[in-house]
Amino acid sequence: MRIVGIEGTAWAASAALYDAETDDVVIESDPYEPDSGGIHPREAAEHMGSAIPEVVSTILDHAASTASEDGDGLDVDAVAFSRGPGLGPCLRIVGTAARALAQTLSVPLVGVNHMVAHLEIGRHRSGFESPVCLNASGANAHLLGYHDGRYRILGETMDTGVGNAIDKFTRHLGWSHPGGPKVERRAKDGEYHDLPYVVKGMDFSFSGIMSAAKDAVDDGVPVEDVCAGLQETIFAMLTEVAERALSLTGTDELVLGGGVGQNERLREMLASMCEQRGADFYAPEPRFLRDNAGMIAVLGAKMYAAGDTVEIPDSSVDPNFRPDEVAVTWRGGDES
Ligand code: ATP
Repeated sequence: MRIVGIEGTAWAASAALYDAETDDVVIESDPYEPDSGGIHPREAAEHMGSAIPEVVSTILDHAASTASEDGDGLDVDAVAFSRGPGLGPCLRIVGTAARALAQTLSVPLVGVNHMVAHLEIGRHRSGFESPVCLNASGANAHLLGYHDGRYRILGETMDTGVGNAIDKFTRHLGWSHPGGPKVERRAKDGEYHDLPYVVKGMDFSFSGIMSAAKDAVDDGVPVEDVCAGLQETIFAMLTEVAERALSLTGTDELVLGGGVGQNERLREMLASMCEQRGADFYAPEPRFLRDNAGMIAVLGAKMYAAGDTVEIPDSSVDPNFRPDEVAVTWRGGDES
């Protein structure tokens, strides 16, 4: 089975071909990089409009060159696309591209929840049965655990996503987007600077920390120290809540998802917490952590195999598509 995936919820115009027999995933991505400031929805959509056809065309060329000789045409069984959550203007372009491609190839369409895809790529690559997932991405931050046919949100941010919070701080410093990798680099030379730590039960908040971090820099605290304090504080919060989610669910498997998961310090803290409680930890390689169409194609393949396809008139996108709205059809009655 071969599935084409298309992703474009915010910054990454991406297409992929997943071959379920060989487990090979080929990804072609073109990032939107704002000249200044953060992600501007209209500019991001303009980027999608020009970049999606290009990345899809590259993946279709690859599909043509690797199609089996006894197969039909491109040897593609379905087209999967990110239905949400994400920026509406970007999602609409991706949805239109996916519908057009599915119709052109005369194959079914699969509508994928982007946050469930961040989780499922970790579950797929790790081979874990039923992990808790920490999704630490740009626009989101939450813990997911499976129960009774759905991924339940065990804890989540009460305000911004974790990456967006970091990016707002770096915008204040005049640094270009994305800010996360720059904070990671500068934190290596810094001493811990104390910032507010905000965890309430299973939920957490970043907005007060970000204001305190901006104030600290304005008050003359060295920027390296603020970056070190920022990473230690927000990653300790995420680690605490991830541990509580493992404890609550009785699970001993944790996977990481989302672009902030590329941060070495976050991975180190989660790995250390898991080691101390005898749990297994898995972080996918960076190409599967940041937004990418590979994870859409991989989950698309599982959904397609389960018969979970969508008719074109029912395939509208949803900018606020929450992971717990998705009926998990592909785990075959697994009740854990
Ligand atoms: P979502 O998946 O919720 O739609 P998104 O579309 O913003 O989020 P992602 O690729 O998951 O995309 O995450 C992008 C975020 O990851 C940005 O906010 C960026 O600053 C952050 N990021 C990237 N690399 C690092 C890093 N090394 N350390 C911390 N943050 C990072």
